[in-house]
Amino acid sequence: MESAIYEGRQVALATKHGKERVLTRPMKAALGLEVVVPAKIETDAFGTFTGEIERPGSPLRVLLYKARLGLKQTGLKLGLANEGSFYPHPAMPFVTVDDELMVFIDEEIGLNIVERLVAAKTNYTRIKVQSMEELKDFLRRVCFPSHAVIVRPNDRLTPDFIFKGLNDFEAVKRAVEICLKASNDRTAHIETDMRAHLNPTRMRVIRQLAFKLARRLKCLCPICSAPGFGLIKTESGLPCRSCQTPTELLNFEIHGCQKCSYEMKKMNTDLKADRAYCSNCNP
Ligand SMILES: [Zn+2]
Ligand SMILES: [Zn+2]
Repeated sequence: MESAIYEGRQVALATKHGKERVLTRPMKAALGLEVVVPAKIETDAFGTFTGEIERPGSPLRVLLYKARLGLKQTGLKLGLANEGSFYPHPAMPFVTVDDELMVFIDEEIGLNIVERLVAAKTNYTRIKVQSMEELKDFLRRVCFPSHAVIVRPNDRLTPDFIFKGLNDFEAVKRAVEICLKASNDRTAHIETDMRAHLNPTRMRVIRQLAFKLARRLKCLCPICSAPGFGLIKTESGLPCRSCQTPTELLNFEIHGCQKCSYEMKKMNTDLKADRAYCSNCNP
């Protein structure tokens, strides 16, 4: 089932980093929604990637705050927001992941549909340098200058002494020189600027997630027709091939509706777990 309930309506996108560039098309094409960006939105009030302003709570909380701020500023009933975090892959510590969340809020129906995309493709990294030679090598690795960087003195992290959004070599060089002198340990800290408009790799991940969210919103609940019907959790218990004992492997996808709480179990009907995963056959 598909939804036309959002056709011709407006949705507020709380961003000051140009995310409308990648959200407008998916929302329009899939749902007929027009993306509106509030004129004055201070999303840095919710903290920054660099850490000089601390983030209050989990990424999910920040995400919901941002979306509600967009609603408040525009007076609209539909809102969108995105929030990313970057950390080492739990199973592969040398790989950094870009973990993006996106929410769609419908205040009239009382929905907030959250979609997530974890991408292993990101240039997120940081380094401490004491010379220009180290700097050049770092800049090559992080796809500079199409991707911007941030420079600060190594011994301090304050909002008034930080050079952000640098995508010109001379500007980086100047900032590094200043920070080398200013830092007590004669070291400059450089990191990738992860704000979407300065990081095309991240912007592409956000675009993919926007399409994923739009597809989700098109799915209607088979019982109450609310939009956003889809995967809400997974359950383990895939039976062993030889003895049928439930294993730790995934067996069910639970698809659900936020409005009426209807849930549907989707079972892996043909798959069976290898004996290697079975606590009975392979204790
Ligand atoms: Zn429902
Ligand atoms: Zn078994």
